[in-house]
Amino acid sequence: MNTPTLTAPMDTPTRWPWQPSFGALGSAFHTPCPPTPLAPSHWVGCNPRLLDALDLPTGLWQSPEVLDALSGNALLAGSSPSASVYSGHQFGVWAGQLGDGRAISLGEIHTPEGVQDIQLKGAGPTPYSRRGDGRAVLRSSIREFLASEAMHGLGIPTTRALCVTGSPTPVYREARETAAVVTRVAPSFVRFGHFEHFSANGHTEELRMLADHMVDAHFHKLQGLNGNARYCGLLQEVTRRTAELMAQWQAVGFCHGVMNTDNMSVLGLTLDYGPFQFMDGFNPDHICNHSDTSGRYAYARQPQVAYWNLFCLGQALMPLIDAQAPALAALETYKTVFPQSLDQRMRAKLGLTDAHDGDRALVETLLQAMQQDRVDFTVMWRRLSHAVHESAQLTHAFDPVRDLFLHREVFDAWRIHYEARLGNADRRSVGQRMLGTNPKFILRNHLGEMAIQQAKAGDFGMVQALLNVLHAPCDEHPACEGWAGLAPEWASSIEISCSS
Ligand code: AMP
Ligand code: MG
Repeated sequence: MNTPTLTAPMDTPTRWPWQPSFGALGSAFHTPCPPTPLAPSHWVGCNPRLLDALDLPTGLWQSPEVLDALSGNALLAGSSPSASVYSGHQFGVWAGQLGDGRAISLGEIHTPEGVQDIQLKGAGPTPYSRRGDGRAVLRSSIREFLASEAMHGLGIPTTRALCVTGSPTPVYREARETAAVVTRVAPSFVRFGHFEHFSANGHTEELRMLADHMVDAHFHKLQGLNGNARYCGLLQEVTRRTAELMAQWQAVGFCHGVMNTDNMSVLGLTLDYGPFQFMDGFNPDHICNHSDTSGRYAYARQPQVAYWNLFCLGQALMPLIDAQAPALAALETYKTVFPQSLDQRMRAKLGLTDAHDGDRALVETLLQAMQQDRVDFTVMWRRLSHAVHESAQLTHAFDPVRDLFLHREVFDAWRIHYEARLGNADRRSVGQRMLGTNPKFILRNHLGEMAIQQAKAGDFGMVQALLNVLHAPCDEHPACEGWAGLAPEWASSIEISCSS
């Protein structure tokens, strides 16, 4: 295969409304870096909803120039491709400088959703690639594309994905695979690790510039503040958002897998989808990352790890803050926001709108019963929603939930407490609320795997169909009923490789 060359800047049918923000910060923060071409490429998945939200023209997918640009084979006029530098703690240990090793930002655009950074993941090596090839394989790119949009569909803050393009160009992991590029979109991809980088290197001026940039561009409430108040305010707001995010992950059974500080978004977005998993059978000790031998990032540990990561961020901000107490107070926010948010979300899953003293115990008892029998997390909540909805008319409405448990007497006992707690609330409307809260469709590993296998065979239909379903996960999608069921036997043998 001839080495493809990068085509010069060009005008595509759309002029992208570039508006540098982080991109205007200067050379201490990022290094210009063109993508390395991957021709010939093809569309693997396109996200028309995001296209709409960004106010980009619907016909974009028909443009060969755009396909080229979003595969890294051509530059869009006005774009300024660059890779940013960050450091971080990986698995609890300081890892030093990392940086965008395979993500290239094309620049930021002005959209109805505010300024959005357009980033190509897998578009070739950057100055921060270290020993990596700067590429991403098709399987992990499809997973990131679908997972970001599934999260968005669930109402959970996340980076978005505009499209995936694929190419026959070989990429070597455990085996020979093929290359793909995901176009990721977020108001900012700044990570805790960006702050740690400048702090660890004693670059206080750059640290301040970065903090001021984040406040001015993304934390408008803090704009009028200065000094300690501004930087502690930033720490507190990141803490609050992270606490909310953890509550949301826990409430849908999402396991990130690699919660290193370089994968933690300062905006509180879910970021960097690798060996993630939406849990099937409920197991708080579930570890989705095969390299995580100690279970540092097990499902139940995620909230604690996020708090640890926030301390790294707090430590990194200390050169801008002249006393420990306000920084510690900002971090303390986590201890109230996380439990409150989780309680509220778990109550919502049970259809409860007000708080009662025994609610946490009610949730805990149910989760323990689910854990004991490894009951499917998503199916249980969905069946419970239907049960409540139908319980006004049907005597045996709870049987389909009960059937999920091996220890049925444990469920029966729990149900008595639950029904007492529901009291005389109108079951149909409680159930209706629950059906809008507890998703029917999640991106189970085996669904992603089926879409990947079909895509490898050249059929991208399931990628697109899954995207559509996952955008409205609480709705009925009769043609895709099979995707709502329990994971098949073979799902437990899927090995999600950490290499991506
Ligand atoms: P991760 O934990 O996957 O988010 O990645 C940790 C670091 O490794 C980041 O700096 C990534 O940019 C970098 N990295 C991961 N995979 C590659 C690759 N194939 N080529 C270059 N850099 C990579
Ligand atoms: Mg990463």
